[in-house]
Amino acid sequence: VSSVEVTQAHLDRIAAVDGDVHAFLHVNEHALDVARSIDERRASGEELAPLAGVPLAIKDVLVTTDMPSTSGSKILEGYMSPYDATVVARARAAGLVPLGKTNMDEFAMGSSTEHSAYGPTRNPWDLDRIPGGSGGGSAAAVAAFEAPLALGSDTGGSIRQPAHVTGTVGVKPTYGAVSRYGAIALASSLDQVGPVTRTVADAGLLQDIIAGHDPNDSTSIPEAWPSMALAAAEGASGEVLKGLRIGVVKELPDAGFQAGVAASFREALAKLEAQGAEIVEISAPHFEYAVAAYYLILPAEASSNLAKFDSVRFGMRLDVPGGTVEDVMSATRDAGFGPEVKRRIILGTYALSAGYYDAYYGSAQKVRTLIQRDFAEAFAQVDVIATPSAPTTAFKIGEKIDDPLAMYLNDLTTIPANLAGVPGISVPSGLAAEDGLPVGIQFLAPAREDARLYRVGAALE
Ligand code: GLN
Repeated sequence: VSSVEVTQAHLDRIAAVDGDVHAFLHVNEHALDVARSIDERRASGEELAPLAGVPLAIKDVLVTTDMPSTSGSKILEGYMSPYDATVVARARAAGLVPLGKTNMDEFAMGSSTEHSAYGPTRNPWDLDRIPGGSGGGSAAAVAAFEAPLALGSDTGGSIRQPAHVTGTVGVKPTYGAVSRYGAIALASSLDQVGPVTRTVADAGLLQDIIAGHDPNDSTSIPEAWPSMALAAAEGASGEVLKGLRIGVVKELPDAGFQAGVAASFREALAKLEAQGAEIVEISAPHFEYAVAAYYLILPAEASSNLAKFDSVRFGMRLDVPGGTVEDVMSATRDAGFGPEVKRRIILGTYALSAGYYDAYYGSAQKVRTLIQRDFAEAFAQVDVIATPSAPTTAFKIGEKIDDPLAMYLNDLTTIPANLAGVPGISVPSGLAAEDGLPVGIQFLAPAREDARLYRVGAALE
């Protein structure tokens, strides 16, 4: 098939279902032109990259020159970036066809996409339920067959948790593996861009395109990466599981998980064991403090990153007749930011204020170090760690919107990886018996060992 046919099929699918799903904030009106040019290059005998001509959905946190980039916020409504995020530039160079920009919680703060200023995305498995967040749009687009591949960003789980609740594959690469240049920053020490796909093999192909050193991101790892697509291919045979040590965290009690999530997790472990893996109980005593530490570190970094939306440099500016610069800035930020963003700016500035810095931000950073130590000790005993990707299946839209703490607790199993900078993958592990909704299993590996995740993930698939 040609790229034009594939692209047209996805545009038709978007036209048919996105009125209900609302995965996209913007559909690329030039997608077919791009597809046509790829087809022409192929027809003229040019050697193209493996994914050339395949459509790609892009989370709206990633800036693009030809489509608006809002990060799900009113304050950036209609904002056009003068440059492409590095990952977008690399995707274009590899011949991928940008299909559109996907919906997300405002500035990637949330676990349900209900905090988008442009209305929620719905889970294609059940339209009354959330598609996860913050990257619910990317996951829903892939799950609803509106896009074969998508890009997401994961600061505390925003790729892996949406993958879990939509039956898709989501990868948070090692911190520094993928450039953050042009990813509108939430928390710079935690953010990482990665793939959302239907198979582990697809994710590997996409990570191979977007990973690699970028001089525009000072935290980008300079060394070259092995091919994740190759790792996924190696894993597909299951051979890789022989003698592989998989750690299960004893402090993550079954009781905290929905019955069907816990059951699916145990079944997946049994399958891995049957193929020769060894399940080892490990201790990570500080994981239980990860959510608390994260919700101090993240707001602190976010409050600083969001200071640039000052009504002068980017986006919205309200008119305040006779007002000072400060009046204009306050009025703009008041109207432009939603309630969750304001909550976190207040939390972050409070945690960073002189009198409280040591008590809050300082303590959270100490916990972060202890969690990194837990990982180091665990990875001295096992090759990968496995956990359920999130405590529950997709919850109902509206169920947790008024209870920020309940929303935050969704990130229980995903956050430790961001605090330690290690890579994580969520792979579908089946459906929960009680509600028939998708469940994912998460694997974590030491930093720079992303290939291990692709091997194990593909073996389970
Ligand atoms: N749910 C997390 C939060 O609200 C995840 C955010 C993310 O990964 N972007 O902060």
